[in-house]
Amino acid sequence: MDVIRILPEKVASQIAAGEVIERPASVVRELIDNSIDAAAEKIVIRIEQGGKRLIKVSDNGTGMHRDDLLLCIERHATSKIRAVSDLFSVKTLGFRGEALPSMSSVSRMEITSRPVDQLVGYRLKIAGGKLKSIDETGSPAGTIVELRDLFFNMPARRKFLRTVKTETDHIVDTLSRIALPFIRLHFRLDDAGKTVLNLPSSENELDRFSVLFGRNVAASMIDASQETGELRVRAYLAPSDLSRARGDRIFIYINNRNIRDRLVTRAVMEGYGQRLMKGRYPQAVLFLEFDPSLVDINVHPTKQEVHFSESHLVYKTVISTIERALGQRLHSVFDTGYLRQERSKGGHIDGAFMAEAEPKWEYSGPVQKEADPQEEFVLKERAQIIGQLKETYILCQVREGLLMVDQHAAHERIVYETLKKSYNSLPIECQTFLIPPKLEFSLKDGRVIMKRLDHLARLGLEIEHFGGSTFLLRSVPSLLVNVQWDDFLLELIPVLEDGGDLSNDRVLDRLLTIMACHGAIRASKRLSQEEMSRLLDQLEEMDLPTNCPHGRPIFQKFNYYEIEKMFKRVV
Ligand code: ADP
Ligand code: MG
Repeated sequence: MDVIRILPEKVASQIAAGEVIERPASVVRELIDNSIDAAAEKIVIRIEQGGKRLIKVSDNGTGMHRDDLLLCIERHATSKIRAVSDLFSVKTLGFRGEALPSMSSVSRMEITSRPVDQLVGYRLKIAGGKLKSIDETGSPAGTIVELRDLFFNMPARRKFLRTVKTETDHIVDTLSRIALPFIRLHFRLDDAGKTVLNLPSSENELDRFSVLFGRNVAASMIDASQETGELRVRAYLAPSDLSRARGDRIFIYINNRNIRDRLVTRAVMEGYGQRLMKGRYPQAVLFLEFDPSLVDINVHPTKQEVHFSESHLVYKTVISTIERALGQRLHSVFDTGYLRQERSKGGHIDGAFMAEAEPKWEYSGPVQKEADPQEEFVLKERAQIIGQLKETYILCQVREGLLMVDQHAAHERIVYETLKKSYNSLPIECQTFLIPPKLEFSLKDGRVIMKRLDHLARLGLEIEHFGGSTFLLRSVPSLLVNVQWDDFLLELIPVLEDGGDLSNDRVLDRLLTIMACHGAIRASKRLSQEEMSRLLDQLEEMDLPTNCPHGRPIFQKFNYYEIEKMFKRVV
């Protein structure tokens, strides 16, 4: 029975279009890509009704001759590659020759184009994939693509489009992402005649960041770069307390192409490490530059996914770039001061997009001064202890103002780092019980403990089987204080159970974090002057004295300027 048929061209191209063009923002993406590839210097985008009614992109790029205009709407027609081998040296954003034919099959489209060296231009009209006309016309040098009634001939697709506001947000987001690295090009987005995003040409990356992230976030970003073999990483990193609940401000670029990539995103998170609280995402921009032959960008029709041939190298390099940059930042963080400021005016764009989520916390910006070796993170010498607030916070006078240290968070950090260091080198300093506490577990938990006795011993927890599921706790790390031993061990059990392998850094980290949490000085505990002073001394020795192992801040600083402002001594 002959049941298999070749699909008519029209059906085939609508199916193909479905992959490339998902919503108005995908049209905008493809058209801007084309304008950038055509060496345009100014690109103006006009939309109406979230792009559902109209999307119009005008550029002053190379333009197209009449013959090319007729060809560009054919499937797989491209001027950007010629052979399979070219796929691995693509420097343009486009190369699949799919975008214009896809769009033209699902909308009513007009392309007007004139190369600079031609006196007249041409306008081509096409609707639902059918060529309507091509006529000579006067037009500025460059190309204008105008697309109306997206999905007019695919009612099911059209129905799935979201509200005008949502589609507009997607377009603004798409434009922002694409435009970020092309700082010398001027981009403008007009929504129903009103400019919502204007990105003038600039020499300085920070100018563009300011519009997209807000002025204060952009000014607080530190940059770092690193080169390993064929890979160059440049990172712009906002401090961790400007983190967000969503990962929508992690911008990743490969050779100036904005991509979404799980591996790089994970590396960014890893690089920030314990500076971030659980469930928080940093604001960061990562530019990766690669020999094009080492990345496969032909993974998905939207060209937003890639395969790296050396993914491990990418992962490691991104992490170490970020760790080094943030590690250096540490000293200046302490000096710069965390200032609680009013929401700044200006520095954001019109419309709801980035401005709506401008952080409440803002930085005064990094101090622009020569690094002074004396300026190192020295808590003790600077901090003069005033006393304890609510038996929880240590108040100190420092050169710049008032410093509040959360005693539990600080001690958690100390316990965590000290145990980790001793675990890696020396034996952990332990204390033996005169009368070992007796611990009772369920049968199942008892079996887990039984299996992991040697791991526990390596963490300084010497436990002896007493019979059945009863155990004796012989000795524990002397750093831990006031621990409810059975609660504590109960919390360790799930970690021991599903990944008892301590050579795995993650497992070790989880165990140490639990130990730090249970073993650290509690909030609401009175401390003597001497205890507070010792705590600050120890904190000073830590690699990451700013955040506890869960990512919560350890101290906050109130700058004299801010204090004086509160009391209206200054304006
Ligand atoms: P691709 O970008 O993958 O080549 P497209 O369908 O997006 O495929 O475009 C087809 C071709 O049309 C391009 O290769 C290019 O030669 C031409 N083209 C598209 N847009 C423009 C533009 N704005 N300016 C000049 N040429 C363009
Ligand atoms: Mg294209």
